[in-house]
Amino acid sequence: MARLSLTQRSQLAMGVAAALAISGAMSIPWIQIRESIVAQQLQSMRDMSQVWAKTPDISIDRLRFVKGTDAKAAAGDQFLASAFDQFADTPDVFDRYELQYGVDAPLSRYVRALRGDQAERVAKGEAISLDVPDAAWRKLPLTGVFSIERSGVGAARLIWQDRIYILIGGGLAWIGIIVAARLLVVRGYLRAVRRLREVANRVRAGDLSSRSQLRTGDELEQLGNSFNDMVATLDGSQKQLQSMNESLDFKLVQLSEANVGLFESNRLKSEFLANVSHELRTPLNSVIGFAELLAELARKDAAADPKRIRYIEHILKSGRGLLEMINELLDMAKIEAGRMELSVSNANMTDMLEGICAIMRPQADIKKIDLEIQHPDELPTVETDPGKLQQILYNFVSNAIKFSPEGSRVIVRADVWAVDGAPGLRMSVVDSGPGIPLDMQQTIFEKFRQVDASHTKSHGGTGLGLAICRELSTMLGAKLGVESKANKGSMFWVEMPLEFRAKKLPPLMADRAQ
Ligand code: ADP
Repeated sequence: MARLSLTQRSQLAMGVAAALAISGAMSIPWIQIRESIVAQQLQSMRDMSQVWAKTPDISIDRLRFVKGTDAKAAAGDQFLASAFDQFADTPDVFDRYELQYGVDAPLSRYVRALRGDQAERVAKGEAISLDVPDAAWRKLPLTGVFSIERSGVGAARLIWQDRIYILIGGGLAWIGIIVAARLLVVRGYLRAVRRLREVANRVRAGDLSSRSQLRTGDELEQLGNSFNDMVATLDGSQKQLQSMNESLDFKLVQLSEANVGLFESNRLKSEFLANVSHELRTPLNSVIGFAELLAELARKDAAADPKRIRYIEHILKSGRGLLEMINELLDMAKIEAGRMELSVSNANMTDMLEGICAIMRPQADIKKIDLEIQHPDELPTVETDPGKLQQILYNFVSNAIKFSPEGSRVIVRADVWAVDGAPGLRMSVVDSGPGIPLDMQQTIFEKFRQVDASHTKSHGGTGLGLAICRELSTMLGAKLGVESKANKGSMFWVEMPLEFRAKKLPPLMADRAQ
């Protein structure tokens, strides 16, 4: 049913409805025809029996007279036997007619009751009257019957003939209804629906000026008008959307121009920073160098004023701090300007770890921190830029010492580790410092981010160290991260494959967008 078109469905529905209505209407004449033909046959049989009763000596074919009331006298004739029973039980019935009009030899049969002396007189060959029996006759005892049999061909043919006419008439009426319904549905409705569909198709194809022109003056016209309103609204919204799109395009162009400008100025800034930092380092190195000389001279001079030594050490400490800061700024500027270059070679990790610890030990000693190295006996060599990896580890160790309490322990570990399914190494630095809250564990790897501002005051630093580590590890094809719990210490780690895999740095624009 779902696959049929609207036309087919409406035709089918109308066809079924018309067929039901017509067959309902036909059933009355269908039955009535038989009734009237049977009534007509009965009447002619009655007439014939009247004639025979009045003139018994005329011969009538297939006339049978049975005298007596014994049903057995019917001698196996079913029709007669049941007539006997009926006449005996129901005195009001005086005759009976039956038309057998089946396929084989149609038969027309009539049987008439004889009461009182009627049977006797018929037996003697006397004429009797068979007028419509009165009440007195009905009370008389049943004394016999006579039956007339005739061929029922004529009556049966008449019935079937009339029925065929009814069928033909019904069929013609059905066809007429279908044709009329089709004209009504197709002309009246479906044509309008088709026209509406064509307009809808044109609208779908993008012609928003298309409108329904239905003027049927009924619900279809209303539907067309609603459709027109809808298309008009759609047209309006599309125009609005178009103009918004245009202004968005314009904004996008403006934005990308601004972006290009920003990109350029960021590059210039990084370049400027790199140059300035470089230029700053030269005089600062000479300040530190001369301060170191002065310190050495003062230490050798037994008569030196202790204040002088303290002042020189202040200059040295501040100078070194400043140099470290400038170095970090320079590194970050170089990375952002895409000027940080790699120098890859095979690095002996045992040597590297020991070297870092040797450099950091004096700092650890100041805070009485036990700096311990842990690694398996055999450590594989790693293909990497040793300077950059060292810088990362140096940063981790320096932070660990900076944030760990006096007298605690900092462990520098190396473990054989699978990195993305490839053989690799994991270096980690474990401390027992204040730890890093979970919500800050990603943030600290961003530029200038610190756990809280008080750190800067108590420990110094720019908040650039870990951001540089992250950039460097990306360049080295390594991963880095932290595991930490507040007040329980931290473990900063870097994992890298033994074989160097160059990784592209994320573009500066993306970095800036973070
Ligand atoms: P800086 O140390 O110069 O502030 P970093 O980028 O190296 O910059 O570190 C960022 C911040 O991360 C630090 O300021 C500190 O708040 C936190 N942090 C780093 N290492 C540790 C550590 N081992 N224990 C506790 N906090 C740390």
